[in-house]
Amino acid sequence: MTTPASQARRGLLATADPARPGPDQSGSGRTAVAAGRVRVRDDLAGLVPYGAPQLDVPVRLSTNETPWAVPQAVRDDLAETVRHLELHRYPDREATELREALALHAGHGFEGTWAANGSNEVLQQLLLAFAGPGRSALVVEPTYAMHSLLARATGTRVVTEVQPRDVPITPAVAADLVAGAGADLTFWCSPNNPTGEATGPDVLAAVCVAAPGLVVVDEAYGEFGAAHAAALLSRHPNLVVTRTFSKAFRMAGVRLGYLLADPPVVDGVRLVRLPYHLSTLTQAVGLRALAHVGDLMGHIAATERERDRLAAGLARLPGVEVLPSDANFLCFAPGRPPRAVWQGLLDRGVLVRDVSGHPTLEACLRVTVGTPEEDDAFLAALGEVLA
Ligand code: PMP
Repeated sequence: MTTPASQARRGLLATADPARPGPDQSGSGRTAVAAGRVRVRDDLAGLVPYGAPQLDVPVRLSTNETPWAVPQAVRDDLAETVRHLELHRYPDREATELREALALHAGHGFEGTWAANGSNEVLQQLLLAFAGPGRSALVVEPTYAMHSLLARATGTRVVTEVQPRDVPITPAVAADLVAGAGADLTFWCSPNNPTGEATGPDVLAAVCVAAPGLVVVDEAYGEFGAAHAAALLSRHPNLVVTRTFSKAFRMAGVRLGYLLADPPVVDGVRLVRLPYHLSTLTQAVGLRALAHVGDLMGHIAATERERDRLAAGLARLPGVEVLPSDANFLCFAPGRPPRAVWQGLLDRGVLVRDVSGHPTLEACLRVTVGTPEEDDAFLAALGEVLA
C-alpha cells in the first residue's frame, strides 16, 4: 500500500502539479543546478525533467499502458525462465537471441533489428549516433515530448514545426514540411501521441523521400490501428521504425523497445550503446514473452472496441470534443479550462494527462483506454466535473 509518506519519498506528491518542474531528488534541499561549482551544461539550463505525475489513485489513465495485467500463466513461465539465468556473467552484448526473435516477430532481417531499454533508449541511441552537436532534429508538434527533450539532451539542435489542426497532412504538405526543415533526423510519431491519429503509408513514403537524413517513425502505438511503417523499409533505407513492449505488449515494467531499419543504422547505434546495455533479465524475459505474443496482444481488438465506446461516451457529454484515435488513448477538449477539469478528475480519484501545454492542444486532456470499469468511473467523474 502506498502511503502519502512513501509517495513523498518517491517524489510523487511533489510533482502533483503537471505544470511544475520535478522534485529535487538529491535530498539536499537545494537543486543540483544551484549547488555552487556543480553546474549542468548551459544548453540544458531551463529544461524540466520529463514526467507526468505518478499518483497512487484508484483509476490511472495517464500513461497509455494496457490496463490488463500479464496473465498468471505467462508470469509463471517468465519466473521459471528467470530462475535458471546465469546472473554472475555479463549478458550477451549483442542480445542475439532476443534480436533474432524480434526480427522473426516483425518480419524483418536480424541485422537491421536492434533492442534497448524501452523505445526511449532506442531513440536516444539514434540521436547519439545520427544527430548530436552540429546536427539537427525535426519535431512536428504537437507530439511526444521526449523527442525534443532527448534531442536537446544529446546536444542536437531542435527544429520545431507546428502542424495546424485544420490543415490535413497530405503527402505534399508533409514533404514540404520535412524538406523545408532540412534536419539530419526527422521524428514522425504514428499513431501520434498525444493526438492519436496514425499517418498513412503514402504520407510516410513522401516524408522518407523528402527528408535529407534519417526518418524515425515512432510506432509506440503501432499495434493499434492498421497503418504500419515497416512495409516501407525495403524501399527507404533512411527509414527507422521504433516499437515498444510498453503499450500493446503490456510489459511497460520490463523496459524493452526495439527498432527496425537498414543494417547500417544498427551499425551506427552499436557505436554509441553502452556495453551490456540490455540486462540478462530483460533479454530473457523479452525473449520468453515473445513466445506468448498471442496471449499478451490478444486484447487489442477489445481495446479498440473499448476506445470507440469511450469516445462515444465522451462525445455524449455536452461541450466535449473528441479527436479521432488509432491508438489506446483519446485526446479530448472538455469544453472547460483543462487544468481545472484535470484537477476535478483527480479529486474524484481519476488521473488523466494534461496535454494543454502542447501547441494546438491548449484546450485538451488525454485519457488512456482502461478497463470498462475504469472508463465508466472516468466518464462518471467527468460528467460530475462538467455538471
Ligand atoms: N514513444 C511514444 C510515442 C510514447 O508515447 C512512449 C511512452 N509514453 C515512448 C515512445 C517510450 O516508451 P518506452 O520507453 O516505454 O518504450
